[in-house]
Amino acid sequence: MLAATYTQGGHFQLEDIPVPKIQEDEILVRVRATSICGTDLRIIQHGHRKLQPGQKIVLGHEFSGTVEAVGSRVRGYKVGQRVGVAPNIGCGQCDQCVEGRANMCPDYSAFGINFDGTHTEFARVPGSAISQGNVMALPEEVSFDEAALNEPFSCVINGNDACRIKLGDTVLIFGAGPIGLLHLILAKLSGAKAVIVSDVIDEKLDRATRMGADHVINPKTSNLKKAVLSLTHGEGANVIVTACPVHSVQEQSFELAASFGRICFFGGLPHERPKITINSNLIHYRNLIVTGVTGGSNMHYRAGLKLLASRKVDLTPIVSGTYPLSRATEAFQMALSGRAMKIILKPSG
Ligand SMILES: [Zn+2]
Ligand SMILES: [Zn+2]
Repeated sequence: MLAATYTQGGHFQLEDIPVPKIQEDEILVRVRATSICGTDLRIIQHGHRKLQPGQKIVLGHEFSGTVEAVGSRVRGYKVGQRVGVAPNIGCGQCDQCVEGRANMCPDYSAFGINFDGTHTEFARVPGSAISQGNVMALPEEVSFDEAALNEPFSCVINGNDACRIKLGDTVLIFGAGPIGLLHLILAKLSGAKAVIVSDVIDEKLDRATRMGADHVINPKTSNLKKAVLSLTHGEGANVIVTACPVHSVQEQSFELAASFGRICFFGGLPHERPKITINSNLIHYRNLIVTGVTGGSNMHYRAGLKLLASRKVDLTPIVSGTYPLSRATEAFQMALSGRAMKIILKPSG
């Protein structure tokens, strides 16, 4: 079968590899849609700390498909069934796992990092993923493409929960990439009075407007602080989400928050330079809450599927390209160019 692989310390490659064999407690999924994530791109560019030198891995973790084979000891799944899989698998035993937050498990494992991922034709699903509820039947209303996108969507649901948006809040989102736009969708659903989106690329801001942003600001061509304060009658934004890995954006968010504002650093900073400078009195005098999230849990994944099935959200505007797996090299080049939004690979044509 065809697979997009990465070798630690080496390179990205599209190659033929054997179809994985499954154990009696595992499932084999025929991948129908698998989207390229920033994590895949970071692995290709910088490797991953969990990989040994020379170790080869099939990339990818945002995916959906049909059950191709079911191990003899697996119950509750059948061949041909449509499934989506939440890709972070906890140990199942620590406090975080027991509380349903496998994404916070100190010992979690994930597709495309700890074991072979999904940018291929068939993906082996470990027994631990099945027993912990990571493998979910897809509602018939949810397409394979949507189910692949449900993975980043579930992470943003996690972020949106952390923001505690209240009815009538003004929400400011930094970054109009796929993650920023998913935050936009959820902020509107959560009862925000107005959503302001900021980005340095006008084309991205146009897309945000088409997706319902009430105001868009390009800080390269207008004074962001002035604009936010004038839109909020001098108070600042009630909720601020940073969906871009930019130091100055994180620093500036404190100045743009209203009293009792909530700031969510959804996007992390590069590991080698994670520090920012802030005026901590802004947190003190304005009673700010500063938070951040990483990944999403099975419950967030499930919530995403329910929202998609209800047709209350439409994720298709965040997709900028769909490629057959045979053109994965081109698809990755496009994704690395920085010009693309979400790109979906279709292994089954
Ligand atoms: Zn991802
Ligand atoms: Zn755990």
